[in-house]
Amino acid sequence: MTCQMVYHNGNCLNTKKPFARACKMCIEICPYHAISEYRQLNAKKCTECGACMAVCPSDGFVDRAMDNLHDYLFTGQDIVLNCPLAIPRGFEIPCLGMLDRDGWMILMLLAEGKSVTIMTGVCAECEDRQACATSVQTFKQVHVDWPDHAAIRIQVRPDKETVEPKTKEGRGSAVVPQVNLTGWRQKSRDKIEEWLPSLAADDTYTVPKYRQWLIEVLEKKKDGKIPFRALSVAASCTNCGVCAAICPQGALQKQEERNLDQSAEDPAKEEKIALLRLILEPQKCVQCGRCVEICRSQALTFSLKLMSHRLLTGRILIHEGIPRYCSRCGKRIFDNTDLCLVCSTSNRL
Ligand code: SF4
Ligand code: SF4
Ligand code: SF4
Repeated sequence: MTCQMVYHNGNCLNTKKPFARACKMCIEICPYHAISEYRQLNAKKCTECGACMAVCPSDGFVDRAMDNLHDYLFTGQDIVLNCPLAIPRGFEIPCLGMLDRDGWMILMLLAEGKSVTIMTGVCAECEDRQACATSVQTFKQVHVDWPDHAAIRIQVRPDKETVEPKTKEGRGSAVVPQVNLTGWRQKSRDKIEEWLPSLAADDTYTVPKYRQWLIEVLEKKKDGKIPFRALSVAASCTNCGVCAAICPQGALQKQEERNLDQSAEDPAKEEKIALLRLILEPQKCVQCGRCVEICRSQALTFSLKLMSHRLLTGRILIHEGIPRYCSRCGKRIFDNTDLCLVCSTSNRL
């Protein structure tokens, strides 16, 4: 059985670059245990709530209707999104749970130019309420970070049994008969199964779709800025470059300058690096935190920065410094010490 969610193996951070503590966020967030340890999706268990998609930083799980949603958001007039249990007056999304931080910020930016309304069912009674609650939590956090964003209207359906006549956006006042929502999931799955046979697809890209849309909408806003969690490097950095080597997105890169004079006079010093630079491409950073976790000198932190389109899509020099070498044997060291581990523990004085 096929469902609306699809898994892109090439987009999973674990596939992009192995890490000792592999990501399991999709597996852990799924309320129905529909994702196996190897990230295989069980369509019979999946309710298409979108929680895995919202929590996955890199589009490992994506809703198949994403591209349709993009067209609706960017080409239509006023925006109305409704979940399947709400009054069907606009573009139907499976659940609020599919909106992550970037998704909410896209809606907030779009709300500066047109009205944005989200219609929900009675979330407390919905089987996907956990996904919805996670997304609402994300919305609240964005609101704290960006208190003066344009308003989004959220309307809860007053009647949970039946729905009112449907008026499609952009189609005037066309009226369709009352719809009973019972069994809507099964019907949509049956329909999708006819033309989409697989739960997995081999799609790989670096900038997740919501981030691509965020960039698209930000580009159209003159002087527009969004609060972005960007990496900063503290003075305790030992210039080891491990953080850049571990980044699965290629968002953090290192540039090394070698001291050619030294290598000429002393072959033993050939590998010495005179200067290391850390460069961040914010649009690729999915805030997975691997670089922060791997840094032995705890030099990396995230902090909110107001970012324009130019900064978000640019390459930013966030640090430069001289790598450390053991003052006794000359080997590269990765801590804030003068001696390497071997020299510091040897008896030789
Ligand atoms: S949440 Fe995304 S990156 Fe993490 S394991 Fe699942 S698919 Fe991979
Ligand atoms: S000390 Fe930390 S921040 Fe500096 S280069 Fe090494 S891992 Fe990166
Ligand atoms: S948080 Fe660090 S490791 Fe993760 S994508 Fe961003 S720069 Fe790369």
